[in-house]
Amino acid sequence: MTKKVIITGVPGVGKTTVVNEALKKLKEEGVEYQPINFGTFMFEVAVTEGIVRDRDQMRTLDRPIQKRLQQLAAQAIAKISGNVLIDTHASVKTPRGYLAGLPEWVLREIMPDIIILVETDDDQILMRRLSDETRMRDKEGSRSIAEHQQFNRSIAAAYAMVTGCTIKIIVNPDHLLEHAASEMADVLR
Ligand code: AMP
Ligand code: MG
Repeated sequence: MTKKVIITGVPGVGKTTVVNEALKKLKEEGVEYQPINFGTFMFEVAVTEGIVRDRDQMRTLDRPIQKRLQQLAAQAIAKISGNVLIDTHASVKTPRGYLAGLPEWVLREIMPDIIILVETDDDQILMRRLSDETRMRDKEGSRSIAEHQQFNRSIAAAYAMVTGCTIKIIVNPDHLLEHAASEMADVLR
């Protein structure tokens, strides 16, 4: 049985880092997953259409445009066979409120088996964002990061209702990357 797993977590929580570590471990055991970045699928269309130049501009686009990019990404990702690991967001913080990262039409295309929520303390996320020079991370305080993490748990429950998937919460605290990666590998095995 092939598995479709979705990885989510607020920007700066270290999703991509944990995923890369977990996939390295699994490869040694002969377990293969194709890593897919949902945002990259959206970004490639958006760049071709000349709508954005930077991936961090996408979350400020008008909602109908974000929705169209989401739909195109979901349809393209649904065609990929084998074990897939999709790096994305349970919700995206936009200037007009939280946008569901996995609305019903996205879920029905992908039908994930598992949704993983990567979390850590709000103040750790704040520090990680401040030290990341490669991205235009939102400047927000730990209170607002806490709200976003809470909202992601709530909306994940709705995703489980639509798909029957399981929801796994993995904590990625400072200095414990190895632990988080092992936990993720266990879920993917
Ligand atoms: P990332 O590199 O994972 O932070 O993704 C870059 C950008 O892609 C995000 O800031 C969002 O604008 C967009 N994005 C990624 N996944 C989704 C999704 N499921 N729904 C809507 N937008 C998304
Ligand atoms: Mg990432």
